[in-house]
Amino acid sequence: MDTPMKAITDLMNAGPVVGDGGYLIELERRGYVDSGSGSEQVGTGRGSGQFTPEVAIEHPDALRELHREFLHAGSQVLQALTFFGTREKLGRAGYGSQVEEINFAAVKLAKEVAGEQALVAGSVSRTQLVERQGSEVLATARDHIAEQIRFLKEAGVDFLILETFFHLAEMKVALEAAAESGLPTVATMSFRPLVTQCSDGHSPAEAARVMADLGAIAVGANCEQDPPRMLPLLREMRDAIDVPIAAQPAAFRTTDECHSFTRLREFPDALETIQIPRQAFADFGRIAKREGIRYIGGCCGCNAAYIRSLAQGARA
Ligand SMILES: [Zn+2]
Repeated sequence: MDTPMKAITDLMNAGPVVGDGGYLIELERRGYVDSGSGSEQVGTGRGSGQFTPEVAIEHPDALRELHREFLHAGSQVLQALTFFGTREKLGRAGYGSQVEEINFAAVKLAKEVAGEQALVAGSVSRTQLVERQGSEVLATARDHIAEQIRFLKEAGVDFLILETFFHLAEMKVALEAAAESGLPTVATMSFRPLVTQCSDGHSPAEAARVMADLGAIAVGANCEQDPPRMLPLLREMRDAIDVPIAAQPAAFRTTDECHSFTRLREFPDALETIQIPRQAFADFGRIAKREGIRYIGGCCGCNAAYIRSLAQGARA
């Protein structure tokens, strides 16, 4: 790229910034990530499933290739595959002694592929402590998240994306840990089973205000719903705050009774039957541009074809 790489805030001001798609579901389909469907009861909302990122050290070529596909499709940001990369989650999956190694390897791969063409974000998700044990373990969750953020900063990410948090309380401690790192931070909640409130009972508008007050440079939602289902909650957030809105919807069709694909019986082994067409992401790119949504990407179910459509929509 000829022009100097812009910081994420500059990119959003010129936005919409086109992010990347979902890594774990796509790499699970390609045979490099364990869904946990053979061992744990998934879709229960009690911290089930595996979907951990050890592919970064076990099959680095597979991860490198998916980064390349997103970059070629138009991603301006590559997320290091550090989702579910805390010591809590990796430890339960049997990778407790390799937490540091996995986080550093994932960032290194993303930076190699990004070069001067894209920014690299560190992905930080919820632990599964709060959904398993309740809010009395928030301090422990915070320690795990803070440790991972230290690794990501040392590995050299440009900024952080806090994503797929179900409880605003856990997002708050994560944002405190992110603020201590000094890294710019995008914060997105996941809403289930309905888009009207998060798991600890806050509306999208309330969640947006709290995340913005804690210093997030952009706030929004990711995963669980497809773009048409997610749009009303994004608009509610946009009307409540002044910071940019970020959105990384899933590519799966949900129902009027359940706006959350991970709660549907199709998760994880029949997701192909609820896959939405990529056209929905081209439409979403156009809408995002028109409505001032400043960071757009895709989550679960979005491979490079979806990101290419999203980029085409956003740049139309
Ligand atoms: Zn997702």
